[in-house]
Amino acid sequence: MKTLRMMATALWNTAVGMSVTIKHMLFRPRITLQYPDERHNMPAGTRGIPVLLSDDNGVLKCIVCELCEKICPVHIIEIRWHRDDQTRKKVLDEFNLDASRCMLCGLCAEVCPAEAIAMSDHYELAEYDLSSLVYDKEKLQQLGRPQKTPIINYGVKTEG
Ligand code: SF4
Ligand code: SF4
Repeated sequence: MKTLRMMATALWNTAVGMSVTIKHMLFRPRITLQYPDERHNMPAGTRGIPVLLSDDNGVLKCIVCELCEKICPVHIIEIRWHRDDQTRKKVLDEFNLDASRCMLCGLCAEVCPAEAIAMSDHYELAEYDLSSLVYDKEKLQQLGRPQKTPIINYGVKTEG
């Protein structure tokens, strides 16, 4: 008798579990995406790696103040520059950012006085070697090109 009761309980529990599974299979919308063929449309304000923004003429907006380099808590921004002999203005030679160590805190974007750096929705960073994750200014500019100004929370949408 006890065995029969245990078998009935097991069958009942299985039926309850399967009813939940079948309800989700047949009546609930699918929420799983077939990554990487399908991707989430990341919302505004998403914090992927920082990117560099350009003006309408495609020129980097960076004024080489170096504040982002100084404020970065993990020291992953490296800026090199020289002073133009004629204009005496600073000219940006190199802007490297080690995306492998970025903790996406957003301080670099927050401190920038020129809206020249912003957090992007770029989050797919997989590479075969870490050195590929050191992004130079051309790569950072390319990622930031579709958007001129930060839209929310210092973030930009890169549209891919
Ligand atoms: S988001 Fe934070 S950790 Fe990443 S580069 Fe900017 S300041 Fe550094
Ligand atoms: S804070 Fe902005 S303007 Fe200053 S060096 Fe960084 S990106 Fe350029």
